[in-house]
Amino acid sequence: MKLITSGIKGTEDILPRDSYRWQFVEEIMRKQAASYGFKEIRTPVFEHTELFNRSVGDTTDVVQKEMYTFITKGGDTVTLRPEGTAGAARAMLEHGVYNDGYPIKAYYITSCYRYEKPEKGRQREFHQFGMEVYGAPSYFADAEVICAANSIFNRLGVKNLSLEINSIGCSKCRPKYHTALKEYFGAHESELCDTCRSRLDRNPMRILDCKSPVCSEIAKNAPTVLDFICEDCSAHFDGVKSCLDAAGLEYQVNPTIVRGLDYYTRTVFEFVSNNIGAQGTVCGGGRYDGLIEELGGQPTPSLGFGMGIERLLLLLDSQGIEIEKPPVCDLYIVGMGEAAKLKAFEIIEGVRNSSLIAEGDIVGRGLKAQMKYADKIGAKFSMVIGDNELAANKAVIKNMADGTKHEVPLDDGFYDAFFALHVNGANDNFMEKLGLN
Ligand code: ATP
Ligand code: MG
Repeated sequence: MKLITSGIKGTEDILPRDSYRWQFVEEIMRKQAASYGFKEIRTPVFEHTELFNRSVGDTTDVVQKEMYTFITKGGDTVTLRPEGTAGAARAMLEHGVYNDGYPIKAYYITSCYRYEKPEKGRQREFHQFGMEVYGAPSYFADAEVICAANSIFNRLGVKNLSLEINSIGCSKCRPKYHTALKEYFGAHESELCDTCRSRLDRNPMRILDCKSPVCSEIAKNAPTVLDFICEDCSAHFDGVKSCLDAAGLEYQVNPTIVRGLDYYTRTVFEFVSNNIGAQGTVCGGGRYDGLIEELGGQPTPSLGFGMGIERLLLLLDSQGIEIEKPPVCDLYIVGMGEAAKLKAFEIIEGVRNSSLIAEGDIVGRGLKAQMKYADKIGAKFSMVIGDNELAANKAVIKNMADGTKHEVPLDDGFYDAFFALHVNGANDNFMEKLGLN
């Protein structure tokens, strides 16, 4: 039979030997989210396509080119989520979560799907950590989510990330800016790429985001949005900046940041690295005061961000930030002979029920091969039980790091004796080290 050896292009497997890196990063995300008062939301991997058309926006690359859309057997048109915000907003509305009182603060860690050309830092299935706030018009909220994202980078020890912020105005002031952009880019129409030419009428701001060298060169001299925003938007932006100053965050105001999705208003921001190649934006977000209304809800000032977990891991690699491997085995027990094997099995279960990690043979190896295996998996202690040990109701535990040996009883007294040795001999609990307990 033909061997199936390849997954789908643009997807990646997270293997047992590597998943601890994901768990570590996700643990930090959960911990920081909790510190900022966010609770987890989980929504389905697919939604009605209409949700993304309406919320992400018809003129965006995501909706125009990147969605995984298909027709179900029942004839519905559904789409695999390309991002996390739309589903969270839909769930909030569907379940009347706003009745719980504002602000609502939710976070997610989720897979996303976009049909893009795979390259370093860009996949077709990728993962995002994201935060969403509903019912918070104050600029303190903008600063809070920016600080929350930043706190994750801090906890991980990431360096050299630049925080770039901008304000893209509101429905009152943006039309004037659109007109100015249309005029400016209109004069360069023949030089623009095909996509940007089609954006000229519908969404000229997106041209500022174009990655083609010609368009981005032209965009350099385009009118800047900060000259067009209204007094309210300007005051809001000043407020965000003073909060960031107060929190000691460094940032650059970058008027070319407009974000890829349609629903943004006022504050937009990105955390950018130049350590991981062309796809340097690790986190992007901002305010989307019009989103909930766009979905048919009451006007609800909202904001949030999405952080790409693959890009974050690339960044950790590029900066040589190593994540310590969690311990895989506290105690390895070898049983020699049927009765001793059963005793070993009993004690292994007992140790596991006390939240330590114990292993025994399930492969059928002999004594020597088992000891080699115990060494390979980094067992902290090992113990051999044979007929003599059973008869004496005692065995010897060996500390694998320093070779010291300790006699322990094989009855109920075993656990206390072992835990005392474990605590004294090898106290490096993974989570404790992280300060996550
Ligand atoms: P880009 O400009 O790189 O295409 P985007 O503006 O499309 O990014 P967002 O929609 O803001 O990205 O998504 C938030 C974050 O998710 C990005 O900053 C990035 O870290 C990550 N991300 C987006 N698309 C991908 C992808 N195809 N593969 C891996 N990570 C991605
Ligand atoms: Mg994109």
